[in-house]
Amino acid sequence: MSEFPKLFIPGPTHVSDEILNVLSTPQIGHRTPEISELIQIINKGVQNVLYTKNHIYLASHAATGLWEMGTKNSVKKGVLHCTNGAFSSKWFLSSKLNNFNCTTIDYEWGRAINIKDVDKTLSTGKYDVFAMVHNETSTGVMNDLYEISHIMKTKYPDIIWLVDAVSSMAGVKIEVDKLGIDFILSSTQKAWGLPAGFSICSVSNKMIEKSKTLSNKGYFLDIQVYEKYYAKLQTPTTPSIPHMFGLKKILEIIEEEGLENRWKRHKRMSEKTIGWATNHGQELFPEEGKHSFTLTCLKNIRNWDINKINDMLLNKGFRMDRGYGSLKGKVFRIPHMGNIYMDDLDEYLNLIDEILCQLKY
Ligand code: PLP
Repeated sequence: MSEFPKLFIPGPTHVSDEILNVLSTPQIGHRTPEISELIQIINKGVQNVLYTKNHIYLASHAATGLWEMGTKNSVKKGVLHCTNGAFSSKWFLSSKLNNFNCTTIDYEWGRAINIKDVDKTLSTGKYDVFAMVHNETSTGVMNDLYEISHIMKTKYPDIIWLVDAVSSMAGVKIEVDKLGIDFILSSTQKAWGLPAGFSICSVSNKMIEKSKTLSNKGYFLDIQVYEKYYAKLQTPTTPSIPHMFGLKKILEIIEEEGLENRWKRHKRMSEKTIGWATNHGQELFPEEGKHSFTLTCLKNIRNWDINKINDMLLNKGFRMDRGYGSLKGKVFRIPHMGNIYMDDLDEYLNLIDEILCQLKY
């Protein structure tokens, strides 16, 4: 058994040995032809995963920083947020602390965004930016991007649309150009299956042009600075080169699996987990039809002793999730993304079954 338990938490997710090995590739200079070649491969690969021609930026920090890249480079009049969990609430907080004119449509945790509310608030004309989280990792709710895209395109084509896809990008099909998403961001420790501390976004021309008209963006997160280095196939600051080698490897793995197969695999793992949980008499936390494909969030209505199960899983070399934020202790989440394949999931669910038997549930 490894010194550290295998992670079955929704981020950081399990990183396979194959990828861990790649992370120790010798370093290369960050202003060399070698890095430009690497960045070119990554940019093409990420564009492919996101079905987009938009520019891809690689950032050597957590995705939280990209929330602020998104808002600082787009908000002039005001930003509308939707909040239905811990991460969407934090993004809204970030906008408040940045002193943007901002408001939120706040939903009970577990509920999804209702498009009629978004339409009503945007129709006031007070907001030039709409910011939302696609997959609320804290509640396991996945919002419907296609439904939202329809009103954004037909009624609000000038509004900049920002999407946090931290726990869905590379695990769920997101057709950025077809949807018309101006800015979509993710970090690498979820469905990308890499360590944390690195993030990725795609940026539309509309957003790049809007950014030019804004001041007070600072330096670090200014899209105009990123653009200058994007043109040279470099990054503005010294990047985390191990992450870049890791990303190249993951993109090869994705290509080998095939995009459609990858999306189907994540859906199948979600169906498997929901089936397993409902057979055990547990209930899904998200509202019906709005559950995530990359993690399953369950209400512990059977009152299993989650702490005891966690201890027993740790003894077997696995770390489980016991809920996030205000849901801690009320729900538990089963991730199925990144380097977790059906066999890994089966192994994990079988282990929980064994433990449930031992505990006589
Ligand atoms: N957004 C969502 C939906 C998340 O799940 C997380 C982290 O779990 C974040 C944002 C923050 O990501 P990071 O820790 O990379 O800043």
